[in-house]
Amino acid sequence: MAYKFKNWAGNVTGTAEHYFQPNSENEIISIVKDAVAKNKKIKLVGAAHSWSALALPTHYLINLDNYNKVLEIDKEKKQVRVQGGIRIKNLNVILRENGLSLANLGSISEQSIAGAISTGTHGTGIKFGNLSTQVIAMKLILADGSILNISENENTELLPVVRINLGVLGIVSELTIQCVDVFNLRDESYALPFEETLEKIPELIQTTDHLKLWWFPHAPLVGIYRYFRTQEELRPRSSFQKFIDDSFLVNVFFVFMLRLGDWFPKLVPSINKLINKIHFKKVSRIEKTWEVFNVPMPPVHYETEYAIAVEHASEALKKLKEMIEHKKLYINFVVEVRFVKADDSWLSPAYKRNACYIGAYQYGDRYWKEYVKGFEEIMFSFGGRPHWPKEFTADKDKISKSFPEFEQFRLLKNKLDPKGVFNNGLTQHLFG
Ligand SMILES: Cc1cc2nc3c(=O)[nH]c(=O)nc-3n(C[C@H](O)[C@H](O)[C@H](O)COP(=O)(O)OP(=O)(O)OC[C@H]3O[C@@H](n4cnc5c(N)ncnc54)[C@H](O)[C@@H]3O)c2cc1C
Repeated sequence: MAYKFKNWAGNVTGTAEHYFQPNSENEIISIVKDAVAKNKKIKLVGAAHSWSALALPTHYLINLDNYNKVLEIDKEKKQVRVQGGIRIKNLNVILRENGLSLANLGSISEQSIAGAISTGTHGTGIKFGNLSTQVIAMKLILADGSILNISENENTELLPVVRINLGVLGIVSELTIQCVDVFNLRDESYALPFEETLEKIPELIQTTDHLKLWWFPHAPLVGIYRYFRTQEELRPRSSFQKFIDDSFLVNVFFVFMLRLGDWFPKLVPSINKLINKIHFKKVSRIEKTWEVFNVPMPPVHYETEYAIAVEHASEALKKLKEMIEHKKLYINFVVEVRFVKADDSWLSPAYKRNACYIGAYQYGDRYWKEYVKGFEEIMFSFGGRPHWPKEFTADKDKISKSFPEFEQFRLLKNKLDPKGVFNNGLTQHLFG
């Protein structure tokens, strides 16, 4: 039966001829064989939380929400083997009950593990790679229905290829993840003026386990989110404070401010200054990892994000501020700055260089195209690489040149899936 696809942000929509929610690996393989026999294309979708059209289906759309089990936990090696459909939020809880934790998390845990890994989802912390760097084994179902096992003992050379795969190599059936001992996070956050922040970035990166910066353009302060790994006892916010921070301020106050700014853009600078005053307060708490790494689900908005070499962070932010002022863009959402350790995955934006990820976000589409254009120009001037699940408009040549192993990936992808069974319009355009 036809299925209407819509991603979380609502900016990517389409129709699949058939929608499947298999329960077992055999069922997944049967769907693949059926698709190939009928010359149909296949797309996988997790939580549909990507802004780019990576999960946009054509013929068959497969979701693994019913294929979501933890298969094995090895407490001694601190490793967990899971089915691709498990949501990160569920995995977080099961790991904690077993004295383990994922080494790092992004801003939300709603994603399916396979979706998050496949796109190079990242958190922050210069000593920590993106989530896919924690993957030590993967079981892929290929376009002919066969199984490819990749691990430290089998086809090891393919690990850097498959970790970030954009869903085009096959179906991620199982993943083994290297976890760490369970830990808590001490949140010691405050705000600093924009210029002072730029000067302090190198020092802050080195002295903070997980550093994140939030800057609302047109406003003077930058939120300096500093999270430290600790075994200290939990010292959480009161439930009243949690309600104020996560429900009232986000779902009521911020939503109202965004709408107001969208109707009357000239109010945006004053609104952002007010948000500085209300939101950027000194914090001191100790909480479970996801209570600190994750933020409440934000209002639906647009996002683009690029990674540049960490050394260029301050200069790039300065240029971004100049561009916003020069083009007179009223930017109503935060600019988010995060830091990620270099890795060796072929399609990683942090490939072989410690990276500063800069995210440009906006509510409403009034200034969006102009903002993305100016933002991408700045990012490319610093050798930037797009973060795959976010929006990017740069042409294929520019993108392929920014990833040193892009051509190698393309060749291997076309060898594993010569008929492009796992392609859609976007990946066909990128990889041919
Ligand atoms: C509010 C919000 C906050 C976010 N915060 C962050 C953040 O902090 N850091 C960050 O890096 N990203 C962040 N993201 C982006 C998000 O992590 C990625 O878009 C991620 O891919 C979403 O996972 P998903 O399960 O929704 O995958 P989908 O969007 O459904 O799919 C993503 C890709 O994975 C493929 N895929 C899914 N399952 C499989 C499978 N089993 N086998 C093969 N391919 C598969 C799909 O085909 C597609 O190509 C955020 C998104 C939102 C909406």
